Amino acid sequence: MKLAALLLTATAALAAPASAPLVVAHRGASGYLPEHTQAAKVHAHALGADFLEQDLVLSKDDVPLVLHDIYLDTISDVAARFPGRQRADGRFYALDFTVAELKQLQVRERFNARTGEPVYPKRYDSKATPGVFRISTLDEELQVIQGLNRSTGRVAGIYPEIKAPRWHRDQGRDLSRVVLPILARYGYATKADACFLQCFELSEVRRLRGELGWKGRLIMLIGGGAKEVDGTDYGALCTPAGIKELAGLVDGIGPAISRIVTWPPAGGAPKFTDLVRLAHESGLAVHPYTIRIDDLPRNCPSADALHAALFATARVDGVFTDFTDRTAAWLRRAGSRP
Ligand code: CA
Repeated sequence: MKLAALLLTATAALAAPASAPLVVAHRGASGYLPEHTQAAKVHAHALGADFLEQDLVLSKDDVPLVLHDIYLDTISDVAARFPGRQRADGRFYALDFTVAELKQLQVRERFNARTGEPVYPKRYDSKATPGVFRISTLDEELQVIQGLNRSTGRVAGIYPEIKAPRWHRDQGRDLSRVVLPILARYGYATKADACFLQCFELSEVRRLRGELGWKGRLIMLIGGGAKEVDGTDYGALCTPAGIKELAGLVDGIGPAISRIVTWPPAGGAPKFTDLVRLAHESGLAVHPYTIRIDDLPRNCPSADALHAALFATARVDGVFTDFTDRTAAWLRRAGSRP
């Protein structure tokens, strides 16, 4: 190895946080149970996740729900149960239903609303257990997590995401303003608390830190595409100037894996960007998304190769994974986890 490369490696190692990489259960143990259900969260806690993710959207009665989409028609039987309640675009929106109505829905493994086919065919077969799973509110989910933290003696943190804040505000709603007091009520308010708040929209991230006064840890998500609906320019955020600017605002970044590493089509060595090094030099943690054992990045040869690229080579500080147990096991084999 050339001296410059050695120095670079040493600098990166020094700049990286010393703690072991975090395993973030993406939508819970979503590789094994329908995403964001209570069962998926309980299972992820049992599998040893360090943090459990909550995607948040609002109900008609302004209650934060743990749901990935503003829509209901790809994870529930809403179309059959509430015919005629879709909007002009044919979609059923969580915002158009009260919690009392939402609680009547049967939650299923994610599926294509047009074909009814599951997105991940090898995962949980919801048809075998109709009626078992329900949508959770943020309150309910935090109560279960804190109950498990108490009964197991092992604290799993939370990783809530403010979903589509621009869209909510266009609808006359303010998701962040509803969520922050609930987090505070459960003890998540400062950087010492086991919580990372995340968002894809830079304008909302600024608002969380400024106008809304969020004092806890904050993660700027960085999509794989060019821009976010609020105009956030993801390419610009990944430049040295963009990262420097973020360093004054957030505690870390949550980039798409493709912003860190890609694999060439003909096989061969993965190609790395300098994003992790840039972030670490500015003191930012890096938590990329998402490890899916059954849906690896394009041309990535194996789950082991993916874990090695992210943890051993790129030296990320944590990762969102649908498979908490598989990621934790890889880290244990690498000596990064007890
Ligand atoms: Ca998310």
